[in-house]
Amino acid sequence: MACIVMKFGGTSVADVEKIRHVAGRVKHEVDAGNSVAVVVSAMAGVTNQLVEHTRSAARLYDLREYDAIVSSGENVTAGLLSIILQDMGIAARSWQGWQIPVITDEAHGSARIVEIHGEELQRRLESGEVAVVAGFQGLEPSRNRITTLGRGGSDTSAVALAAALKADRCDIYTDVDGVYTSDPRIVKGARKLNRITYEEMLEMASQGAKVLQTRSVEMAMKYNVPVQVRSTFEDKPGTLVVDEDEIVEKAVVSGVTYSRDEAKITLRKVPDRPGVAASIFGPLADSAINVDMIVQNISPDTKSTDMTFTVGRSDLDRTVQVLESHREDLGFSDLVAEEGVVKVSVIGVGMRSHTGVAQQMFQALASKGINIQVITTSEIKISVLIDEAYLELALRSLHTVYGLDVT
Ligand code: ASP
Ligand code: MG
Repeated sequence: MACIVMKFGGTSVADVEKIRHVAGRVKHEVDAGNSVAVVVSAMAGVTNQLVEHTRSAARLYDLREYDAIVSSGENVTAGLLSIILQDMGIAARSWQGWQIPVITDEAHGSARIVEIHGEELQRRLESGEVAVVAGFQGLEPSRNRITTLGRGGSDTSAVALAAALKADRCDIYTDVDGVYTSDPRIVKGARKLNRITYEEMLEMASQGAKVLQTRSVEMAMKYNVPVQVRSTFEDKPGTLVVDEDEIVEKAVVSGVTYSRDEAKITLRKVPDRPGVAASIFGPLADSAINVDMIVQNISPDTKSTDMTFTVGRSDLDRTVQVLESHREDLGFSDLVAEEGVVKVSVIGVGMRSHTGVAQQMFQALASKGINIQVITTSEIKISVLIDEAYLELALRSLHTVYGLDVT
């Protein structure tokens, strides 16, 4: 008997009819003799609405209450799926995060899971009951309050539960049938990957591919949980996220991703002396602003230099505010903020052993007349910042250049 965790996202449980369809998929696994834990998201749109209600209630709100509010969407889905399963003659019970419990830290709004006490759940599963777990939820024990795991967090709930239960599989059911080489809405030739490594998936998730929450991939990698991304609506194999050893033929580049959530800041004539980077990025870190790409130019006169970096678009105003408020001590002459930029990344574990991958990228962009504003690299990723207007052209050209197009 295998133990499997099945996770269904918001679009898969958007209404009662869809939840009925999900129940059918659960029944299929139960009938095959598996013990099954199901993790559900809130019905599509519900969490967004709860977030909006919270924001319109007060401009500055208490994050503990935010979590109490936005975690509620998942309760509804878990209850509904349990009722429908029971109606089909399957023993099922809903579980909220605190009931398991899923213990987290105190970071309300984007809490991290510390541990899961899955013993009772395990006992129930062994007795043949289906556990329907409300995703996204945790319990912060010191104050005994409900926490949430950040947007998209039920992916992480599912993977963490699979790790705690030592499940044989963690299937993430969603409205796409797997992980693609690029966004099929933009790149016509994009194709579904049969397998992808944890590391590539991690880069893809953090570079803007929305299919899995980044933390869920980190967790899967750490505990070696075999994850499969697959379609709720079509019965066919999805994409397996696995260890590198399990992939025989490694592509040099597996995917081309992008993020529109980028803004660029340049500080002109920053004094060129030790400690200047620390004094710029320290205050940003204190304000919880995430800085991504950074370039510091060499200074022509050894006295001052330009510093360019990127932040999330929604953080731009705050970033400008923080920097302006430190203008005196930072000593820059101008601050230039720009929104019309996007980040395009090529990702692949094969880059470790192949040379010329970056050159190919730069050449492809140059041949289309696309100017590169900032470049960053990691062992398995090259990212460039370009003008937003060239996003589609860049994605398509790179997809072709690396031989990813469907043939
Ligand atoms: N409902 C939550 C959200 O929309 C969690 C999830 O769906 O994963 O972010
Ligand atoms: Mg999701």
